[in-house]
Amino acid sequence: ETITVGELARAMGVKAGELIKKLMSLGVMSTINQPLDYDTASLVASEFDYEVKQVGFVEEDVLKPIPDKPEDLKPRPPVVTVMGHVDHGKTSLLDAIRHTNVISIETGGITQHIGAYYVNLDKGNVVFLDTPGHEAFTAMRARGAQVTDIVVLVVAADDGVMEQTREAINHAKEAGVPIVVAINKIDKPNANPEKVKRELSKLGLTPEEWGGDTLYAEISAKKRIGIDNLLELILLQAEMLELKANPNKPARGIVIEARLDKGRGPVATVLVKEGTLKIGDFFVCGLHYGKIRAMFNDRGESVRKVGPSLPVEIQGISGVPEAGDSLVVVKDEKIAKEISHYRQQKQREATLVRAGVSLENLYEKIEEGEIKELKLIIKADVQGSVEALKEALTKLSTQEIKINIIHASTGVITESDILLASASHAVIIGFNIRPSAKVMDLAEKEKVDIRYYDVIYQLLDDIQASIKGLLGPEY
Ligand code: GDP
Repeated sequence: ETITVGELARAMGVKAGELIKKLMSLGVMSTINQPLDYDTASLVASEFDYEVKQVGFVEEDVLKPIPDKPEDLKPRPPVVTVMGHVDHGKTSLLDAIRHTNVISIETGGITQHIGAYYVNLDKGNVVFLDTPGHEAFTAMRARGAQVTDIVVLVVAADDGVMEQTREAINHAKEAGVPIVVAINKIDKPNANPEKVKRELSKLGLTPEEWGGDTLYAEISAKKRIGIDNLLELILLQAEMLELKANPNKPARGIVIEARLDKGRGPVATVLVKEGTLKIGDFFVCGLHYGKIRAMFNDRGESVRKVGPSLPVEIQGISGVPEAGDSLVVVKDEKIAKEISHYRQQKQREATLVRAGVSLENLYEKIEEGEIKELKLIIKADVQGSVEALKEALTKLSTQEIKINIIHASTGVITESDILLASASHAVIIGFNIRPSAKVMDLAEKEKVDIRYYDVIYQLLDDIQASIKGLLGPEY
């Protein structure tokens, strides 16, 4: 809310007349009861060496989620992300699903790429995110947004489990998102689905037929074989998750894609998490705000309202938000604008520095009860080292703190590793490797601690010291 000249003067302990004079020198004519907007108040306060903070009304009160009664919760469709190794058929699968289930129904309908699409099935609907791979998934998570309910892991039957297959599994596991496996390319003469199942079983994805609880589909994205079965398995998995949301309240959603359109201005695809988003709603979205002017679904149809899980492209935002930003509907434009201002101010001040976990602050965080395990990502030059490190590090677990290796592999530290570390508050250990400048920049931005070693006992010493709070900063 606003503050009057008199109130501000009192808050700073200066005479109202003095403040009015100062305002005048800044070109603002005022009286004692005049309300000042935030920018003016900050500006004049800074002249007196004061800082005006917009009070915490924002996140705490206005944006507080409205709790739901159990009876208000209605089933909602699952949101699915397709992951897997490069060239195993992620894009082909997304295309196959889209074509068999969208175009044939909506004859003549023109599909629009808005970042997500939904398919209608007899037994329910499924929403697919259009950007395959774990990078986008984990980037969103690093920003505090989780939209995916189910991961479909595509593994080529002629190639088997590869590096990015393992990565995808670890990213999904860390996020606590269940995996449905799609063994792809079964049309190929050298396809070996049994081998894929064996390899995946070793990674904890045991098929039901072998006593596990992972659902498997055998498909050919190219020949469009087994697609319907895969969709049914997705619905089955979704049923077990009992996904629900309250459609009857002001909407909250997550931006999954946004851009500046030449003709239409900023547009964003929002996935509604709860409530119903309607034309005319005022909202805050990341640093921006607006009023829903128009909405389009993935078939290019104009829609007036959308409920939970559904993706929709919106117009009417004051700027281009980022993927992972939340959209929250508020009462009126004034509040929307104030919150957006407040956030922009906060960002300028860059006070939102989130301290990640580092080996130095680990002990502090254990003491504060903030963490109970040290999550590590291990990257080493050779597989032998990966295994040795995994074993030695796991043994360092104590009663107070468990060492949890969430990902370990050979090769350089990638952006995807940084994002996983950021999303999961993990520390990265580089053994006999060095990072690229680009990756170091990202690590700095995401506040991820990377440690480099080439002698194993030094690493073990440091981890032990860090658990006990004895590690000094690294220079
Ligand atoms: P992505 O990198 O995981 O998105 O993989 P793509 O969907 O781009 O597929 C990589 C290659 O595999 C392309 O040449 C596809 O035509 C081919 N491909 C995808 N699915 C199948 C399939 O079911 N059978 C065969 N034989 N080839 C496929």
